Amino acid sequence: MKFVDPDGREWENPEQAQQLKNNINDKISYLNEIIYSRQDIIKRGGLTQEKMENYNCEINALNDRISELNSSIADINQLGNDKKNIYILNNNGQLQGNVFKNQDGKISINVGIIGLMIHEIKHVSQSLDAGRLEFNKENMLQYYASGIEAQIKAEIAAYKAQFSYNGYFPIASFWSPNDITPQMIGNIRKKDGSLLYPGIYNFYNTKK
Ligand SMILES: [Zn+2]
Repeated sequence: MKFVDPDGREWENPEQAQQLKNNINDKISYLNEIIYSRQDIIKRGGLTQEKMENYNCEINALNDRISELNSSIADINQLGNDKKNIYILNNNGQLQGNVFKNQDGKISINVGIIGLMIHEIKHVSQSLDAGRLEFNKENMLQYYASGIEAQIKAEIAAYKAQFSYNGYFPIASFWSPNDITPQMIGNIRKKDGSLLYPGIYNFYNTKK
């Protein structure tokens, strides 16, 4: 019989989780620098109405990103505080992420870039919030609830988090994470041209 150490669960490698939080905090500082520089320009005055509105719009969008990034730090802490599971950040160099339950019961977050790590961690956090950390037959994490609406909600939040770190979305360009729509996510395609989320695409493009 094995005994479970009540305090020994969290991140398998806490330094790695801390490194990820440091990366996110560095990004927050960087975005704040941009905000200060824009505020300086506005303070100096002499801008056209249009320029000023543009800068204010950019500042709002940067603040939206910062608040998402703070929420991602909270997600990392949430996994660290989960006494039931051990999480492994597995930087595998891949551009497609997944969350996988290993044979020893540890949960691997497999992904090669920081933005996607944040994306996948958001899905784990959603499942913990819902009290439903479930894996399918292939040992891949399921969405926090069944049904297309839950999938849409889950992906919107995950892409907002991801975009807020790297400022990049596969098929469109914009400033604020709040500009991401479910239709945009439905239109993301894999390298081979096939849809990444056919269920979401069909939800918006099939006549009902
Ligand atoms: Zn996702």
